[in-house]
Amino acid sequence: MKQLLLALVLASSCGAAQPVQKSQTRTTQPAATPQSTGAKKIDRARLLEDVRTLSSDAMEGRGAGTKGGEMARAYVEGRFKELGLAPLWDSYEQPFDLPKGGKGFNVVGYVKGTKYPERLVVVSAHYDHLGVRNGQIYNGADDNASGVAVLLQLAAHYAGAARPEHSMVFAALDAEEIGLVGARELVKRLKAEKRDVALDVNMDMVGHNDRGELYASGVYYTPALKPSLERVAAGAPVKLLLGHDRPEQGHDDWTNQSDQYAFYKAGIPFVYFGVEDHKDYHKPTDDYETLTLDFFVGAAETVLDAVETLDAELEAATKAGAKK
Ligand SMILES: [Zn+2]
Repeated sequence: MKQLLLALVLASSCGAAQPVQKSQTRTTQPAATPQSTGAKKIDRARLLEDVRTLSSDAMEGRGAGTKGGEMARAYVEGRFKELGLAPLWDSYEQPFDLPKGGKGFNVVGYVKGTKYPERLVVVSAHYDHLGVRNGQIYNGADDNASGVAVLLQLAAHYAGAARPEHSMVFAALDAEEIGLVGARELVKRLKAEKRDVALDVNMDMVGHNDRGELYASGVYYTPALKPSLERVAAGAPVKLLLGHDRPEQGHDDWTNQSDQYAFYKAGIPFVYFGVEDHKDYHKPTDDYETLTLDFFVGAAETVLDAVETLDAELEAATKAGAKK
């Protein structure tokens, strides 16, 4: 996320990599705490395996249009297949031209809704990251292998026994880091086909926060979603805060800083889940070892609870909100 800072960060990141803080790694199970409704539906081991694989050196930082990006894409497609997820279109892979040549690919799966099959909820997370720069691999564990791993948990949930009311689109997006290109392409096609997109739930950086704080951003534009998210927050295993979405906040307004912006620009409501910037943001130290694992699992549970709640309450909430 936050591609606006990229030039600055890269300019300052040419030196030696910061030491990996092993002390932040938590491999033990969390103590018994009150658990959200999402708790039992998140497969912790699989979640961590997915984020570890996607952020491994073998994926070479998942740069759009690179071999590492292709490996990440193949991994996500393999997981979609394993889950029995249908493609939204003829194939999971949706290619598009990258601004400086080459191809980017979104990976898009689909589960049909029971009550509002024509209304789509798009669950999105970008799988690309910065690739290799100055000989250093930018693994992007938090940014955004974390969001993709949670997306795979949500896909597993809805491809399994759970049936959503709205049709769910699971979109692992490419080329976010070079200007939200994959998201713009996805929105363009959905619009061209006159698809009825009710909501985008975007995740970008949900695996690293020392204070246990996860933000849900976007309610400023769709206040009708606030009561549902406040209820989710009340039972969440992480501290779920609403905010970072007011224009007067300047760079602390996150609206244009990740893929949700493409949906926002098309007039589609969004909820963006993410954390505040941290010491490893857009650095070669954004590794599996610097994730805060218990927080990450809690964030996954929280997002799943939020998606289930919004799926159930969205229509009534936005109908009520429209009267204002
Ligand atoms: Zn990102």
